Amino acid sequence: MPITWRCGHCGNRVGVPNPVWQAGESKAIMCPVCAEVTALVHGAYYPPAREHAAVEHLPPDVDVAWNEAVNSAGAGAFTASEIMCRKILMHVAVDKTGADEGKAFTEYIDALDSAGYIPTGLKPKIDGSALGETSPTTSFLRLTRRWLTGRCPSPASCS
Ligand SMILES: [Zn+2]
Repeated sequence: MPITWRCGHCGNRVGVPNPVWQAGESKAIMCPVCAEVTALVHGAYYPPAREHAAVEHLPPDVDVAWNEAVNSAGAGAFTASEIMCRKILMHVAVDKTGADEGKAFTEYIDALDSAGYIPTGLKPKIDGSALGETSPTTSFLRLTRRWLTGRCPSPASCS
């Protein structure tokens, strides 16, 4: 069965008919574009896809948290990844809205929403994110990246 993925080395969406190495659920797959090898272990790819990778111009503490979120997801530690994303959102809420530290996550999201930092339609997705579930966590990582890269600077610019 063919394997398709977004290569974490070159960023291309690629596919191969077979892994170059396999033992049980662990596979090594080689990108047909850049010839770099990716590890596929229990559904997690390492290195993770570029869409989740580096975000430029982040403050150092946010950069460290973001890299930890990406690396956790790449290692299949989706709950840890989501916790780091939540930490980033809380950090942004404290920084941008003046929210007090030590509040519940939903209070930070409400503060960001009130200040116009949550694009229209995304708040239910953030509120509805169930901690530890693979699919919402992946979207949470994507959402956080979209936010950090400034693709959604205002509610009107992002749907
Ligand atoms: Zn590649």
